[in-house]
Amino acid sequence: MNKIIEVKDLVKYFEISPAHSINKNYVKAVDGVSFDIFEGETLGLVGESGCGKSTIGRLILGLTKPTSGEIFLEGRNINSISKKELRKIRKDIQVVFQNPYSALDPKMTIEDILSEPLSIHKIVYKYDYSKEVKRLLELVGISSKDAKKFPHEFSGGQRQRICIARAIATRPKFIICDEPVSALDVSVQSQILNLLDDLQKELNVSYLFIAHSLNVIRHVSNRVAVMYLGKIVEMGTTEEIYNNPLHPYTKALFLSAPVLNPWSNKDREILSGEIPSPIFPPKGCSFHPRCKYATGICSEKKPFLQTIDGSHKISCHLYDISDKTKEVLT
Ligand code: SF4
Repeated sequence: MNKIIEVKDLVKYFEISPAHSINKNYVKAVDGVSFDIFEGETLGLVGESGCGKSTIGRLILGLTKPTSGEIFLEGRNINSISKKELRKIRKDIQVVFQNPYSALDPKMTIEDILSEPLSIHKIVYKYDYSKEVKRLLELVGISSKDAKKFPHEFSGGQRQRICIARAIATRPKFIICDEPVSALDVSVQSQILNLLDDLQKELNVSYLFIAHSLNVIRHVSNRVAVMYLGKIVEMGTTEEIYNNPLHPYTKALFLSAPVLNPWSNKDREILSGEIPSPIFPPKGCSFHPRCKYATGICSEKKPFLQTIDGSHKISCHLYDISDKTKEVLT
């Protein structure tokens, strides 16, 4: 399988010190993240609010520059290419944002909204815009008769379908779906997830799917990465993560997820405590103040992401393996 996206040791620190201050403070939003995404697959990125998952999306989109690290699109480092080249490959990376209400210009018709990327990236000739808009609308389940309508004439679910149509208009290789269903009614969430799934099969596009809902991530992902305070703490296939979660944070996330009948499992653990400050993250394992398995080493030494079995990786001292075993496994 072709590697579409490769992220290597990505770091993003936001400086928050007052101007001219000698002591610099930084929000460590992303702190050494690496992953690959292959052709036609979905990598789900899950974690609590503020863990850095949306910042990763913005870094890949080029909306913010990394402090260090590299991002490759089909082998090309998108941080070191010229602006002209970057403009050319921008059509290959698209995004669907969380809020379809603010993502569409209320003064433009749907036809104009969808024609814009066709024109910017010269996808089809001008005289074919109407035909292409019709095709895109039909692909996302909106009647082509509605092309002359304005965004306010559609429901939230329909607007998200239009946002998806705009994202696929440039025939991208990769789409970042940043919480694309969390602003929608539960009744339409599964319709949008199914639409994204159908489009992936038809267009062979790859997704980075960012969400805080474990159920949503399970529904759409081939592989899953769990983030905590700017780092990936566990990564594997969806089966590996959902059938055999190993990291104490992943386990706590599962146990604190809402269930239909709250009395069905009264003993379930609730993830306690606040996420520590990303400005002054705890020494050692950043999860140690909230971890019931923490031992002395956890507040002293940082664990690193290491392969445990198959593609299952974990960053936790409970699973530290000897250097010899590590050589065999990696
Ligand atoms: Fe808990 Fe220690 Fe593992 Fe961190 S390294 S998750 S504190 S057991």
